Amino acid sequence: MADTTLTWLGHATFRIDTAAGKRIYVDPFLNGNPTCPAGEQEPERADIVAVTHGHADHVGDTVAIAQKHGSTVVAQVELAGWLGNQGVPGDKLIGFNKGGTIDVDGVKFTLTNAFHSSSAPDGSYGGEAAGFVIELEDGKKLYFAGDTCVFGDMQLIGRIYSPDLAIIPIGDFYTMGPREAAVALELLGVQRCVPCHWGTFPVLTGTPQALQELASGVKVEQLEPGDAVTV
Ligand SMILES: [Zn+2]
Repeated sequence: MADTTLTWLGHATFRIDTAAGKRIYVDPFLNGNPTCPAGEQEPERADIVAVTHGHADHVGDTVAIAQKHGSTVVAQVELAGWLGNQGVPGDKLIGFNKGGTIDVDGVKFTLTNAFHSSSAPDGSYGGEAAGFVIELEDGKKLYFAGDTCVFGDMQLIGRIYSPDLAIIPIGDFYTMGPREAAVALELLGVQRCVPCHWGTFPVLTGTPQALQELASGVKVEQLEPGDAVTV
């Protein structure tokens, strides 16, 4: 069986290519993302799109991708409603809520808490910001924290889901920076992390190097946009 790859497309945007052949986008901010590689701005296919919250740098191209590729879109219920109003076909839209787990053709998505805000790009109510635990067909588990500060209940996410890999924001300013992120890793109990939401804009000053210095027991992947890791 092939490996699963996780490709960072800059900011909080990721493409997962599962060992079983599915392609999943998380927070597909492609067009308008200053760090998204040019060759990644027009997806060739997308089976599933997962959106953590309503801000434009996370919703990104979700509607266009869903319309073009017939992707299933998963998001917190109010945000899913908004996405439906924007033209994501209703039969391909799953709006659920925190603590809930859904199974999309063998890939499980659990919506977790996150501490952030979540208005939709047009200013309308977008529900609450969230994160995802994504359990792939082969049982590998990825935790996408979404935009958040550190919080003590990350320990529960570690205890309940035991993620193999944590994808956490480290840029500071709008989310936690390296100091809080190091504690997040400790609470999650993970051995490996892919940092995101850094380097996109000048205010996002946190770096993977700074996190690695504070989190000596964890492998902090130091990626450039377009780089991939094997899960
Ligand atoms: Zn953001």
